[in-house]
Amino acid sequence: MIKVHASAGNEDIAMVYIIETSPGNLVECVESVQPPLPRDKKWVLLVSMMFGCPVGCLMCDAGGHYHGKLSKQEILDQIDFLVDKRYPTRIIPCEQFKIQFARMGEPSLNLQVLDVLEELPLRYQAPGLMPSISTVAPVGAERFFNRLVEIKEKNYSGGHFQFQVSLHTTDLILRDRFIPVKKWSFTQIGEYGERFYAPGDRKLTLNFALAQGMPVDPEVLLTYFSPEKFLIKITPLNPTYRARENELVSYVNPLSAVEKYEIIQALQDAGYQVILSIGEMEENFIGSNCGQYLRRHLQAEAPIEDGYTYQVNQRP
Ligand code: SF4
Repeated sequence: MIKVHASAGNEDIAMVYIIETSPGNLVECVESVQPPLPRDKKWVLLVSMMFGCPVGCLMCDAGGHYHGKLSKQEILDQIDFLVDKRYPTRIIPCEQFKIQFARMGEPSLNLQVLDVLEELPLRYQAPGLMPSISTVAPVGAERFFNRLVEIKEKNYSGGHFQFQVSLHTTDLILRDRFIPVKKWSFTQIGEYGERFYAPGDRKLTLNFALAQGMPVDPEVLLTYFSPEKFLIKITPLNPTYRARENELVSYVNPLSAVEKYEIIQALQDAGYQVILSIGEMEENFIGSNCGQYLRRHLQAEAPIEDGYTYQVNQRP
């Protein structure tokens, strides 16, 4: 039985919850909508898979302090909690009901995530269900990735699954600095993508949370990733404590979706579909965006100014 410790946010955009899934173990989960789309068009949940994260990406407040993996039940408990608040019958009529395995932890380092993926279609009546795995593709997770292909084929074919790999730059030295674990090479990621992708699937997403000074070379990408099977998503670097500590500055202006960027133009000229994903600024303030982690904020002595500005309601 989970216990809610704190919450923050705005019911019309995003809510972050700090919950206790097992005695003494706190994690965060999020529900959000994407205005102007109403919830019945698109509803997005983010759940945690680990207590802390052993990867420690340079811009992520959820990294570090790793002390274990969540069980299948603990992951499902977060989803049940968020679903039951809105749809207690567990019939979810949303056109797109996206569950992102992305709040805290690297999904491929927890095999229980696969059991959750198998369980979801049985647990909820949700025609719009679309799980989304976002990974840095660490070395040693091959068992996870092999089984994931089978699960996607069996349960989520025809575009009901999103697979995202975070690259952040095409400069290998900077990539190693940004994501400080042993990772698959671009060759390995490209080969996996070829195996993963089937006709009718969504293209695999190459994620770039772009900081200034992080090159993205279309020629390098074209060597490994076919524009027919991979698309590119560029996001601003969200305001996090780790980004501030590491003096990282966003390449993309989070306030403007219309500005033109040289890198985006070059990627489009190379034939890639490019999504510039600028979320609601409110989500930065709430602390629900990627890489943000409310507990880090609660422990901070010098709060950052452009994120986590919402009041956190702590419960006794
Ligand atoms: S971005 Fe993901 S993999 Fe990297 S430290 Fe944060 S939770 Fe871990």
